[in-house]
Amino acid sequence: MKKPLISVEKCKGCGLCIGACPKKILEMSSAFNKQGVNYPKCKDEPSCIGCKFCAMICPDCVIEIVETDEPGGKNG
Ligand code: SF4
Ligand code: SF4
Repeated sequence: MKKPLISVEKCKGCGLCIGACPKKILEMSSAFNKQGVNYPKCKDEPSCIGCKFCAMICPDCVIEIVETDEPGGKNG
């Protein structure tokens, strides 16, 4: 199973990743990072298909797609 790992302190809050996600599972947090901007959070990690669109569109390489160990998601 894959999920987005978001390095929130590097985010500049442009919102591009949110529009890029075909599953619409990214949304802006109401919290602020140290740069004083809202950053994205994933509201439904099990629905992530690992397409990496969010990671590819981010101008600041904030998002990385990682494998999780959660049950049911392993490919062997
Ligand atoms: S990898 Fe794809 S499905 Fe997962 S959060 Fe990013 S854009 Fe959405
Ligand atoms: S595209 Fe990158 S910089 Fe822009 S809001 Fe998303 S994570 Fe932050």
